[in-house]
Amino acid sequence: MALRTVFPVAGGEAGLGLALPNPPSPELTAAVCAAGAAWLAAAGRARKVLLASPRSFCAGVERAIEVVERLLDQRGGPVYVRKQIVHNRHVVAGLEARGAVFVDELSQVPREATVVFSAHGVSPAVRAEAKRRRLAVVDATCPLVTKVHAEAQRFAARGDTVLLIGHAGHEEVEGTLGEAPARTVLVQSVEDARRVRVPDPSRVSYLTQTTLRVEETAEVVAVLRDRFPKLRGPATDDICYATTNRQDALRSVAADADVLLVVGSANSSNSVRLVELARRQGTPAHLIDDAHDIRPSWLAEANVIGLTAGASAPPRLVEEVIAALGGLGPLTVEERETTHETTHFTLPLAVR
Ligand code: SF4
Repeated sequence: MALRTVFPVAGGEAGLGLALPNPPSPELTAAVCAAGAAWLAAAGRARKVLLASPRSFCAGVERAIEVVERLLDQRGGPVYVRKQIVHNRHVVAGLEARGAVFVDELSQVPREATVVFSAHGVSPAVRAEAKRRRLAVVDATCPLVTKVHAEAQRFAARGDTVLLIGHAGHEEVEGTLGEAPARTVLVQSVEDARRVRVPDPSRVSYLTQTTLRVEETAEVVAVLRDRFPKLRGPATDDICYATTNRQDALRSVAADADVLLVVGSANSSNSVRLVELARRQGTPAHLIDDAHDIRPSWLAEANVIGLTAGASAPPRLVEEVIAALGGLGPLTVEERETTHETTHFTLPLAVR
């Protein structure tokens, strides 16, 4: 049995469809009725979408995806990729469907096969293992992550303790920590910065993960500088242009929005930071993998919906969210561009 609800909204009709077993259980029927009522409550209202720009793919993500696509075109499947090429469920599923095989460890890659390193980078230990297994490596590490690795090597080589500001367990952090593990200490918060101990307070440097929240990182650095006045850091920010620009763009829409939707996967650091930033500004915010994750209760009272996407989320998902919101009633879309991005990274030689 299929339950189908069609209700009028300005400019047309919107509908809900659901396949139910025959006969449906009373609990399921009640749940379906509740869901229908929630969507009806959200429907029919005229709304505005404030679309943050820049949003979605950055240059590093575009490059990493293109590396895998070109390898699939040139060599056919399977193409092995260590970890998710970028942190987005849809990107990974799309490449898997074309023949990419995502593995957690190099031991899962057949000897002498080709393997792609993801945009988040790898530690020297992983590179050494790839060499031992005679794997042909195509490195899709974002050049801005490679820059942080080079700084880690340089700071450690001059005898500093390197304080790496970032989140434990993130692949980028694991890769950077691996450059000088005996000299690097992870600092995850202001509290960590207050407590961290170093062998020589006059020889301390800091680095950061590329996808952190700008203000929070500045607070951590300020505490470190207070404790270690000779603290040295990178010549230019490690938080990358794409992260900074998406946070600036979000600020420009969050203050005027009743609710904010961030398209991105839960393991995408820069997407999660966008949600945090909006909430800190006092705007309710939700991370959604795609339009299916939208809950009607978020929209029932919302006249203005802020919309953005993390750097690993495909632009088409944002378009699908706008189309879905349009099904709930009259919708106008206003884009607010805070800066125009032109950054582009050249592809690795192996796939040019
Ligand atoms: S978010 Fe920044 S560091 Fe990460 S891939 Fe994009 S440009 Fe590179």
